[in-house]
Amino acid sequence: MQLLKGKSVLITGGTAGIGKEIALLFAEQGASVAIFGTNRERAEQVLSEIQAKSEPVQKNAFFLVDVSKTKEVEQAIQTILAQWGSLDVLVNNAGITRDTLLMRMSEEDWDTVINTNLKSVYNTCKVLCRSMMKSRSGSIINITSVIGLMGNAGQTNYAASKAGMIGFTKSLAKELASRGVRANCIAPGYIETQMTKALPEDVTIQVLAKIPLQRMGQPRDIAHAALYLASDLSSYVTGQVLTVDGGMVM
Ligand code: NDP
Repeated sequence: MQLLKGKSVLITGGTAGIGKEIALLFAEQGASVAIFGTNRERAEQVLSEIQAKSEPVQKNAFFLVDVSKTKEVEQAIQTILAQWGSLDVLVNNAGITRDTLLMRMSEEDWDTVINTNLKSVYNTCKVLCRSMMKSRSGSIINITSVIGLMGNAGQTNYAASKAGMIGFTKSLAKELASRGVRANCIAPGYIETQMTKALPEDVTIQVLAKIPLQRMGQPRDIAHAALYLASDLSSYVTGQVLTVDGGMVM
């Protein structure tokens, strides 16, 4: 049984890592998938992989969008709504790090991370929530991080953006629940992607020692959690943070 048959989804940052894995799994599960990213070459490659997993009835699309830019996001979402009629699921996954201690952090490092990770969530939800409320259904999934729950030296900007997403999601869940729209977060632990490949080896060893399940997560671990929150399997779940981290934060 396909859990997302006939649904249409938008995944920001669907061109790599966790977002790409969510896009592929959702396509396998019958959804029409739109992805946002800024790298055209990677996006075209991912789009052809998505098409290979799709039935002919599934419409898939890529939009060259910087999620921190309000106008770009608005135009792309309006185009999808005009062409597809509705979007049933929104996954706010696009995210970046600019790690350094606060005393060395430039205003640009602060603004870029906050705008890409947090303002982007305002940008997408603001445009899409009206259409979801009209449909009286929808699932919004925001990919936060365990760092937003516990903080981390060298990541004040990233932790603030991810903690902000949690407060935003809980508030939005309360605003939209009566209209049948759900909003939840996934807080991944350490997942093997380009983002974590950038970590020095000694940091990776220290992190692994703190994970009860004794391994880094895979993008598919997060995609499975996203599938649960996107599908009707979670129809009584809203305003929650689902931590997927091998037991690191309990
Ligand atoms: P990657 O670096 O592998 O991928 C990031 C994705 O975000 C890419 O598709 C990239 O697309 C997109 N992106 C970045 N900036 C923008 C932008 N301005 N506009 C549009 N798209 C953008 O990261 P991960 O897959 O590891 O991370 C995905 C999410 O999961 C992030 O929000 C991250 O914070 C979170 N997370 C990751 C963890 C991990 O261990 N990997 C742990 C906890 C949370 P493009 O290059 O095309 O712009």
